[in-house]
Amino acid sequence: MNKFMPTARTEVRRLPKRAVYDREVVYAVLDEGLVCHIGFVADGKPVVIPTGYGRKDDTLYVHGSPASRMLRTLGAGADVCVTVTLLDGLVLARSAFHHSMNYRSVVIFGRATVVDDRAQKMEALRLFTEHVAPGRWNEVRRPSDKELQATIILALPLEEVSAKVRTGPPLDEEEDYQLPVWAGVLPLSLTTGQPLADVRLPAGIEVPQCVRQYSRKRR
Ligand SMILES: Cc1cc2nc3c(=O)[nH]c(=O)nc-3n(C[C@H](O)[C@H](O)[C@H](O)COP(=O)(O)OP(=O)(O)OC[C@H]3O[C@@H](n4cnc5c(N)ncnc54)[C@H](O)[C@@H]3O)c2cc1C
Repeated sequence: MNKFMPTARTEVRRLPKRAVYDREVVYAVLDEGLVCHIGFVADGKPVVIPTGYGRKDDTLYVHGSPASRMLRTLGAGADVCVTVTLLDGLVLARSAFHHSMNYRSVVIFGRATVVDDRAQKMEALRLFTEHVAPGRWNEVRRPSDKELQATIILALPLEEVSAKVRTGPPLDEEEDYQLPVWAGVLPLSLTTGQPLADVRLPAGIEVPQCVRQYSRKRR
């Protein structure tokens, strides 16, 4: 069970050699990513909403306000498609046509359910916090009952899942390799800036390790 079984919906047809169904690759993309895009149909029209998420084993959690149309629609059992994309580089070819990007991306299909159990909700909130900044949960005040009640949490099982990965240099037409045009890959990665302490921070509180040594690289 180290792979997700391709289904009629998750079988990559366009450039299938880039398809990956290994759980480890899917987990790595989901754990490194910060933002997912959630596609669903609301009032008969498609909509795609960016949001944060957390993962544990084969469950993806999303959360938010009970006022969120997305959460209400998904909580009612709507079909959903979730994507996460990591951009690794710009692939600059000798021809305009063969420009590309190096990436790792995941597509998930399914239906979410509402998490009602208090302990499970708390665990999901821990996952969100740790997903954003590993180590943060143990530094901060835990959610109160009021805050828990004001939060909807949805669980989406990772069952129908595909990943697609592009790596490597540009792939030009054979005759174009002679052109006097620079070609190659410009690597891209998410980096942090200098931490900006909140203006209301009391004196003497040091920047914690999870901020000082922040990295999205997970493995
Ligand atoms: C950063 C980035 C830039 C891209 N730029 C382009 C572009 O400019 N033009 C272009 O045509 N394509 C681009 N792609 C690839 C694009 O995501 C699609 O794979 C491609 O367009 C084929 O779409 P399709 O509907 O024909 O896929 P199909 O192969 O028919 O899709 C069938 C199934 O394969 C899986 N699948 C398809 N694509 C992905 C994916 N990216 N990640 C995970 N699972 C997937 C899904 O489960 C999907 O339901 C880009 C991808 C990324 C991540």
